[in-house]
Amino acid sequence: MKILTILGARPQFIKSSAISNIINLKYKDKIREIVVHTGQHYDYEMSKVFFKEFKLKKPKHFLKISGLNHLEMTGKMIFMLDRVILKEKPDLILVYGDTNSTLAGAIASVKKRIPIAHVEAGLRSKNNIMQEEINRIITDRVSKLLFCPTVGAKKNLFKEKFNNFNEKKIFNFGDVMLDIHKRYSFSMYKKSKLNDYYLVTIHREENCEIKIIENIINNLEQLAKHRKILFPAHPRVKQILKKIIKSDKIIITEPMNYIKFGKAIYNSFAVITDSGGVQKESFFFKKNCFVLRNETEWSELIKKNYNVLINPLKKNFYRDIISMKLKKININYKPYGNGYASNRIIKSIYNNLLKKN
Ligand code: UDP
Repeated sequence: MKILTILGARPQFIKSSAISNIINLKYKDKIREIVVHTGQHYDYEMSKVFFKEFKLKKPKHFLKISGLNHLEMTGKMIFMLDRVILKEKPDLILVYGDTNSTLAGAIASVKKRIPIAHVEAGLRSKNNIMQEEINRIITDRVSKLLFCPTVGAKKNLFKEKFNNFNEKKIFNFGDVMLDIHKRYSFSMYKKSKLNDYYLVTIHREENCEIKIIENIINNLEQLAKHRKILFPAHPRVKQILKKIIKSDKIIITEPMNYIKFGKAIYNSFAVITDSGGVQKESFFFKKNCFVLRNETEWSELIKKNYNVLINPLKKNFYRDIISMKLKKININYKPYGNGYASNRIIKSIYNNLLKKN
């Protein structure tokens, strides 16, 4: 049985490591995984570092598509993936999350009538103009096996009546990111010299508009007077940050590898981010997280008051961050399963394909 895994962005390299690991450990004789890298993220720190760190299989196809606008990028990816699919003739295509690579993979596969498995299905921010939201909805619509990370994600698919399409199968086995967190926790729960800072990441397109990023930076500069800030900068914001940040209490670094970044969360006081994955990882480390967005697809953590939404355009939002009474995280609350999602996902893929063949 042949699976074509389509990857392109940092969080996808990380998520795919959980599933690829199980294929290697338990399904080596039954499943052949071929990896395609679209090239969406290509810097060493955003891509290669994770292939090394997780000992990921080298992509057989590297499409080198980057630096284009959304439509050009997605269009070119669909065109090139079509050729890859024609050549490889996979039994199933595996896509992760909500990027342009996810959408392109889904469209190329459905046009070629290859079944699609979507890992991280059913998430909704309810912001219908957000690129990631559009990618999620279309990918879910054309996927056959939908692997939701939470109860809420599964409910979303039922609300949208995706369960009425009889070719679809919808599951909630938990979140693969928890599997990875558990697997590497022994190397991440380590004290470092620098501690008790705010850990910040920003990369959402909307937050990189100059008016918004300037407001965020102004607030971070005020916040840094109160507590240090550690800021591993995504390539999208690096140049802007270097130009406008004045405070030496804001430590800007290159993007980190997964373990180093995990240690950075562990040693922080709290996290400030617009990342999807980092919102959850903060919770895994029992840290509170300020989410620089007006809505989030990881709403369960907001409902619990573990994470707090912050409007990135609000003047002086740093005052809210300083004065907010943070809620202690209950270790018995487990919205993301118990760390065995990837095992169950690959078992389900295998059983479903076996029935078809
Ligand atoms: N991450 C990392 N190094 C960093 C920042 C983030 O390894 O310097 C990891 C983080 O642990 C999480 C993932 O990148 O697993 C989140 O990716 P990103 O924020 O780029 O995308 P999103 O989750 O918003 O789709």
